[in-house]
Amino acid sequence: MEDINITIVCDNNPYKEELETGWGFSCLIGGTERTILFDTGPGGSLLSNMEKLAIEPSGIDTVVLSHIHPDHTGGLESFLEKNPDVTVYLPVSFPTKFKDNVHKCGAQVVEVEQAMKICTNVHSTGQLGRWIREQALIIRAEEGLIVITGCAHPGIVNIVKAAKDLMKEDILLVMGGFHLEWAIRGKIDKIISSFKQLGVRYVGPCHCTGEKAKNLFEEHFGRNYVNIGAGKIITLADLQ
Ligand SMILES: [Zn+2]
Ligand SMILES: [Zn+2]
Repeated sequence: MEDINITIVCDNNPYKEELETGWGFSCLIGGTERTILFDTGPGGSLLSNMEKLAIEPSGIDTVVLSHIHPDHTGGLESFLEKNPDVTVYLPVSFPTKFKDNVHKCGAQVVEVEQAMKICTNVHSTGQLGRWIREQALIIRAEEGLIVITGCAHPGIVNIVKAAKDLMKEDILLVMGGFHLEWAIRGKIDKIISSFKQLGVRYVGPCHCTGEKAKNLFEEHFGRNYVNIGAGKIITLADLQ
């Protein structure tokens, strides 16, 4: 296996100045058996940000959609126009019309219900949660698991627990939207102590995590806090 790398293509948090930072999330996972686009950001900025990052849509063979919200699925159609030769993994609870549209674009659809393997060392948690069903991505690196979330609507701690139960390995990094924009201090503190109990080594909260929660995570994780925004590239060298 090559070195795993994760490039943030879309995030409302800025990192590389020239990239658009509309509300949404998308990242590209490379160095794994398949090259995976996790979420597609809001409509509009995905392809232009890819271009600025010198990412060729044709180099991507797999798309994983965390959940139905348009800030995660909005870029899909324009992406499929560039490269329909992909397999799209989406929660089985997605509307039929959405799935049909993906088929019409010429892509393969895999409907995810239970946890499943996507390729060597990459798994989905399966769709979690009751109201907004969402899947998270788990990458197995030698140093531990990397968990990537879209909005974490089922609860970020529930997602991390599900990943740990499934893979029975230590958690190296949890990154993505933690959905704590409107959370009160007490709730955020509880989540941070759950992370510590679960043995989470690095955190990279972005997207819908909110400034208050991001600051608290940074305070508690110190040099193990990964500052994420559009254009950031994370490699295992950052997680030593
Ligand atoms: Zn979102
Ligand atoms: Zn959402």
